This record gives sequence, structure tokens and C-alpha cells, in this order.
Amino acid sequence: MKFGTKAVHAGVHPDPTTGAVMTPIYQTSTYAQSSPGKHKGYEYSRTHNPTRDALQKAIAELEGGKYGLCFSSGMASIDTLMKVLKPGDEVIASDDLYGGTYRLFTKVYENFGLKFHFVNMHKTESVAKLINSNTRLIWVETPTNPMMNIVDIQAMGKLAKSHNILFAVDNTFATPYLQQPLALGADIVMHSVTKYLGGHSDVVMGALVVSDDQLAEKLYFLQNSCGATPGPQDSFLVLRGLKTLHLRMKAHCENGRVIAEYLANHKKIDKVYWPGFSSHPNHDVAARQMKDFGGMISFTIHGTTQDAFTVMERFKVFTIAESLGGVESLCNHPTTMTHASVPAEKRKILGIEDHLIRLSVGVEDISDLLADLEQALN
Ligand SMILES: *Cc1c(COP(=O)(O)O)cnc(C)c1O
Repeated sequence: MKFGTKAVHAGVHPDPTTGAVMTPIYQTSTYAQSSPGKHKGYEYSRTHNPTRDALQKAIAELEGGKYGLCFSSGMASIDTLMKVLKPGDEVIASDDLYGGTYRLFTKVYENFGLKFHFVNMHKTESVAKLINSNTRLIWVETPTNPMMNIVDIQAMGKLAKSHNILFAVDNTFATPYLQQPLALGADIVMHSVTKYLGGHSDVVMGALVVSDDQLAEKLYFLQNSCGATPGPQDSFLVLRGLKTLHLRMKAHCENGRVIAEYLANHKKIDKVYWPGFSSHPNHDVAARQMKDFGGMISFTIHGTTQDAFTVMERFKVFTIAESLGGVESLCNHPTTMTHASVPAEKRKILGIEDHLIRLSVGVEDISDLLADLEQALN
């Protein structure tokens, strides 16, 4: 089946008791047993809930994986995955990670004896150099946030496999519509479902997808043991959101392309970061592993941080807000918002300048988005 058909149908089957076409919101914590231990596969909703089960199946199917697990946030999904590791284990991660992931790794898991190496992953050799007998996990974001760097998933997958290291990709920015890391050699796909998968800025949720039976078993054990599971109402909202993922992503990409090109040709704009430009340092890799280039764009203006703030305050359609991936256009100032937890010296090295603005281009009418940019910049 093609992706659009899967997006509409994955995980959802008419409810066996009533024929309800949409999976109902099973708002229950527990399930009646006919005799102690005799039940219909459901005992307690931390462990299993039919609405969450449908969503987990749907996300797994869209990523081309065997097993899906949902969590109460993207961070909870990463947190659960990290518990597969033990003190002394080492992780190699992209150096311009989502700020919250960087914070979890350095401020929480370093205290539990894990060691992290952060490296620019533009070239796979830089990662190879850091591998030793304690390396257990390679953690990749691509495109990265907010600099839109691209990592070659297939090359990284080969490297990880040759050293028997787990390889995880945070696929939040691309979504399975644009890129499917498991097919390119990843062991684990992670999502902040909060963003494009949910798609409507109304739910906070995370997900992991894997195909390996043993890894899945470990993760289900941790999901139930640690307990950061999402409720049925949120699961329902995401199931509903997924049905239009392909339509939304197509619109995000179309609008994103027009805006990236508009910004690149605007005299008040200095740099524009978007993997669709042939001048992007890893454009070839992006073109190979992604179907299109997405609706996330970062840029700097010629001017000061205050000028950047002024532009943002003038927006009427773009809303100043954290997060991304919803149908509405948002703008973000990484230094003070999403990446405030990354130390200033580190931000400088990564190119996260104080006048950098990140756009999450929504699915509004493109003429209104362009007019908004035009009036804010002039
Ligand atoms: C938002 C985000 C996360 C964290 O997810 P939450 O749902 O906010 O906990 C992780 N990675 C990326 C790339 C994100 O954008």
C-alpha cells in the first residue's frame, strides 16, 4: 500500500463490538476479568489500552517498523530508550540536538554514569573516530534543529552495524512521509509526536518504533515499568491527525519551498538554512534520503538581535511560540526559547546566532504567509 493509504487506514479497524469506524476513546484505567487472570488481553491501561494500541500500530506501520510504543512526551520516549543502557556505556550524538535532548543527556544521564560524545555528523568518519568498546548507541537527528544539518542515515547505519552498536534516529522533523530511517539501517526511530504526527498543536506525545523482537520486548518492559504512557484521549487525537499526515506534509513542503526561496532572495536576509538549496552542504544526501525538504527553515537577518525580535513581533500570521509541525505557522527564537538550555559558547560554535529565527511553515494560503513576511521585514 502507498503511504497516503496507510496514513488513512493504519492501525484502525472497525471496533469489534459496535462496528464504530473510528477507534473509540477507551477512557478506562482497568478491565473486568471473568476469573482472576482471565481477561481479553487488557488488564490495566498503563500496560495496554485499545486506543493507544491502535495508535502504536499506526505509527509503526507508517515508519515501516514491526513495533510501535507511545509515551507521554517525546522526552519520555528518549528517557525510556536510555534505560536500555548501563553505567559506563557511551553514546555518540549529533552536536546540534534538540535542546531538551541535550539537557536530558548531559544534566540527567551523565549523573547515571553514561558518557556522551557530541560531534558534527556531516562526515561519518568523525563518528567512527569516537567508537570504542563501550559505545552502545549512536543518536542522530536529521534534519537537525535549528541548523537544518543533514546526516547520512544509510552511511551511519552501516557504521553502527559493523560495530554492533544501536542506531537511533529522531525523525521528528522529517516524519515518515519524508524519510523512513528503519529502511535505511536505523534500529530505532524516535518521534516527538507533539509536532507533525499530531499536527494540530493540541497534544504532547512521543513514540519509538523498532523492528527487532528482543529490543521491542525490552522497550515494552520499560514502557510499562517506568510508566510514562499517554492517555486514550490524546491517542485518539493523534490517530485522527495521522489520517492527514500526507496531505499536511505535502502542503508544508510546498509552502516551505516558496518561503525558503523568498527569504534567500530578500535583501534584508543574511543566511537561510534549508536542505532544499543545492548550496546546502549535504543537499545531495537530503535529496537521496528524503522525499522533499520539509517546512522548517531557519534564517538570520542583517541586523541585531533586537531587529530580529522586532520582525517577530510584527508577524500577524506567524505566531511566536515554541514547538513546530502544526498546521499553523510559528516562529521561534532558538537562543531564548527552544535552545536556551544549550550553553552560549556551544550555541556559537553550532551557528545558533542570537539573531537566528526559526520558522515552522504551516499550511495556510501561501500568499498570506508571504505578505506577512513582507510586511514584517519591510
Ligand atoms: C520537540 C522535540 C523533542 C521533544 O519532544 P516533546 O514532545 O516536546 O517532549 C525531541 N526532538 C525534537 C527534534 C523535537 O523537536
